[in-house]
Amino acid sequence: MMNEAMYAYGAASSKIREIFTYACERKAQIGAENVFDFSLGNPSIPAPAAVRASIERSLAELSPEELHGYTPASGLPQARTAVAESLSRRFNSAYSANDVFMTVGAAASISCTLHALTTPGDEVIVVSPYFPEYKVWIEACGCTCVEVPAEANTFALPVRAIAEALTSRTAAVIINSPNNPTGVVYASQELKALAQRLNEANASRSQPVFLISDEPYREISYGANVPWVPGAYPNTVVCYSYSKSLSLPGERVGWVLVPPACFEAPRVMAAVAGSARALGFVCAPSLFQRVVADCVDVPTDVAAYARNREVLTRALRSMGYEFVEPQGAFYLWVRALDPDAEAFCERARTYELLPVPSNSFGCAGWVRVGYCVSLETIERSLPAWQALMNDYRG
Ligand code: PLP
Repeated sequence: MMNEAMYAYGAASSKIREIFTYACERKAQIGAENVFDFSLGNPSIPAPAAVRASIERSLAELSPEELHGYTPASGLPQARTAVAESLSRRFNSAYSANDVFMTVGAAASISCTLHALTTPGDEVIVVSPYFPEYKVWIEACGCTCVEVPAEANTFALPVRAIAEALTSRTAAVIINSPNNPTGVVYASQELKALAQRLNEANASRSQPVFLISDEPYREISYGANVPWVPGAYPNTVVCYSYSKSLSLPGERVGWVLVPPACFEAPRVMAAVAGSARALGFVCAPSLFQRVVADCVDVPTDVAAYARNREVLTRALRSMGYEFVEPQGAFYLWVRALDPDAEAFCERARTYELLPVPSNSFGCAGWVRVGYCVSLETIERSLPAWQALMNDYRG
């Protein structure tokens, strides 16, 4: 018998992808320069030169089995060691290769972690608005996705509301900072306050509530400090990917870190490995594991995103749009000019503007504008944003 739940996920593809597909069709009709596609989080800045140098070195120096062969299921030792040493240096910790599992991007990191930490019937808390795939991954574990709204208007971490949503079935809380879609970065005090509430809840539990820290945008911040979450709460599993920091979304490489201070860390790590095995995610792309080993400390060039952010926020503010000042990632969270964000996006589409309605992120009345596009796209889109505002103002 076919699996109806899987059919439903496949038949109704994500809204973000749907808009992206529309954008591609529209570009073919009226020219790419006339369509302002703000849908996808696809970095427009090229991967750093060190990535190409690493690939060329691998091509020149490795034997065919090394170049294209399987790696150990958990990843190449040199990649895991490089990640562990880099994190230890940066966050004043003592991680080893055994604490790191190389994965097929953050999607696999989070899926494997959720499968490792939950059993069917459990609850996993997410902060809305949230990355839409969380719900799919949580439900695929047979768990319930419990949505807790972020603080009104600021979209800060809703510590009290998370504490109030905890039940005996809560297995984990997923947080994401810098945040997609709001651009908010959680401050150290917020994380400490959350840790305190989780520790209070843990006192009456045999297994702690785990924190899953989804961090693909860690390197993309505009001056804000992005605190190290395991430093605030030891029962944190960190999920990372190089999709954004090294502009490698199509190459599918990232990792899961289970810090040794985490509850039953060796068993959690074994369960992550078991989940990767069960889901068929073992052996992340070998060429790009070598890139990770070589480029782990290559800085992310955020200058282009910072410039886009500056141009877009200055212009939209002067037109009268309301938005959350982004501290990180590359999304602008703009209040829709209509209570119905989908209707607002439909109207925006008549001006060839393609943001994503907030309904996709579990929240009403806002849109996400991905500014990881070229500066030219942003500049060319500004008259359309103005025309849309004029349209609403009548
Ligand atoms: N988590 C968040 C918050 C994201 O924005 C994304 C991708 O955009 C992912 C996870 C998935 O990342 P990856 O492409 O590495 O699978």
